[in-house]
Amino acid sequence: MSDKKLTLEERLYANEYRTAKESHLEISDEKKCLTCEGRPCTTICPAGTYTWSDESSRILVSFENCLECGGCRAVCPSRIISWRYPMGGAGICYRYG
Ligand code: SF4
Ligand code: SF4
Repeated sequence: MSDKKLTLEERLYANEYRTAKESHLEISDEKKCLTCEGRPCTTICPAGTYTWSDESSRILVSFENCLECGGCRAVCPSRIISWRYPMGGAGICYRYG
């Protein structure tokens, strides 16, 4: 195997997804994100699912990228991330490993 360092996008491309029609991730009280120290959901997620938007002053959730590790739910200090497995067999299908 090559020791070339892959970018996040290249690593994610190695996975196969069945995209769900609706998000399996929800932030129930977005006001809490305004004052959340460090916004750990934006750094813990291995898939970069959560990003902070200065323009809309809220967290944007790219649920299609989710690797279903559950880390975001555990790390949110306000416990406002609602997480469940995608419906109907959608979501990540690991191609390797
Ligand atoms: S960790 Fe929780 S409270 Fe903090 S920005 Fe993310 S969703 Fe909002
Ligand atoms: S479950 Fe894991 S991969 Fe999915 S959004 Fe949360 S931290 Fe990211």
